[in-house]
Amino acid sequence: MMDAVLLGVLLAAVAIGYGLGYRQAKQRANPTPPASSPTLSRDYFVGLNYLLNEQPDEAIQTFIQALEVNSENIDTHIALGKLFRTRGEADKAVGIHQNLLARPALTALQNEQVQLELARDFISLGVHDRAQRLLRTVIDQTQQDNHRITAKRLLVDLLEREKAWQEALDTTLPMLKLQPKMRTPAAHWLCEIAQEEIGQASRALAKRHLKKALQLDDQCVRANLLLAELEMDNGHYRQAIVRLNAIPHQSIAHIPTMLPALKRAYWRSDDTTGFEQHLLALLDLAPLTSVIISLSEVVHQRAGVERAIEVTGEHLQHAPSLGGLDHLIDLYTESQQLSGREHPDSRLLLLKHHTQALLKNRPRHRCQHCGFSAETLHWQCPSCRRWGTIEPIIGVEGE
Ligand SMILES: [Zn+2]
Repeated sequence: MMDAVLLGVLLAAVAIGYGLGYRQAKQRANPTPPASSPTLSRDYFVGLNYLLNEQPDEAIQTFIQALEVNSENIDTHIALGKLFRTRGEADKAVGIHQNLLARPALTALQNEQVQLELARDFISLGVHDRAQRLLRTVIDQTQQDNHRITAKRLLVDLLEREKAWQEALDTTLPMLKLQPKMRTPAAHWLCEIAQEEIGQASRALAKRHLKKALQLDDQCVRANLLLAELEMDNGHYRQAIVRLNAIPHQSIAHIPTMLPALKRAYWRSDDTTGFEQHLLALLDLAPLTSVIISLSEVVHQRAGVERAIEVTGEHLQHAPSLGGLDHLIDLYTESQQLSGREHPDSRLLLLKHHTQALLKNRPRHRCQHCGFSAETLHWQCPSCRRWGTIEPIIGVEGE
């Protein structure tokens, strides 16, 4: 397919290349033009001819041949390679970049730049082992911090895809001072390692890795959540509650994430009063629907449905939500049944039908970076691949 941008760049590049060659020849006061100039000129017109005959692929090939590699136009070649890659023709980009690497005129810096581009081509083609080899060479040899960081970030991305968490961590740890944003993914890799260890019953090791995750990123909700689970498995419910209580201070939006574990910890320690007090404290921080419903359930058990209706209605006044309304309808229906009504009120049934229809297939989580939404919580966004950016949705239709 015709690509106007690519052809435009090629045409301009060849024309500039030809002009430069001619000017340099004149500057040297040499009456003979550079040896390559006549070839450039001929290829340029052959390419134009292909273009006029609507043969863009042949035109592109001819222009690339015409565009000789020299120190003046190396960036143009790299730009061409990038264009091919973004067009989905990474194989052609590989050709351009390998051709560049074979040129002895390249400086060490340019060589590294081309190797990084070639690694990106291989990543696009799914040839990860070759990309990894190139990136490791750049990391080992470069004197440039920016090249090392770019190579490491590309390598880490590949290691993540292979779930090689420890290797990703080893690659990243030495550059955390220069790249503090990598602390968040590094903490999540430690959580991944810890989860594998929990699966293999290596709890002490898992605990150590989770604490290290919090040292790297004190905002890592997942580490506290897993540490709380470890405490609970050991029967240490108080310590689990302390861990879970740290989460709202890390992220208010993750209160619903930790709520099921909090409920379990209080129930297993047979402390429903403590749970009720804890829920009230959470509501002071943020009036979230799942907390209101949990409080309603505790009150319902302790003081009956009428008191639960009062408490729920009171809190929903400050934080109206579809989920809260749905729960309130259930309480009203139960209240009517208890007062001796044989069949549920048809108006309540109609309301329930609407709230259920609106709540059905509603995503409960959303990525704060790219907007990807999902029913379940992913610690790494499947769309933008950032870590820790997906949170429960808050608002009338959410929490
Ligand atoms: Zn995302």
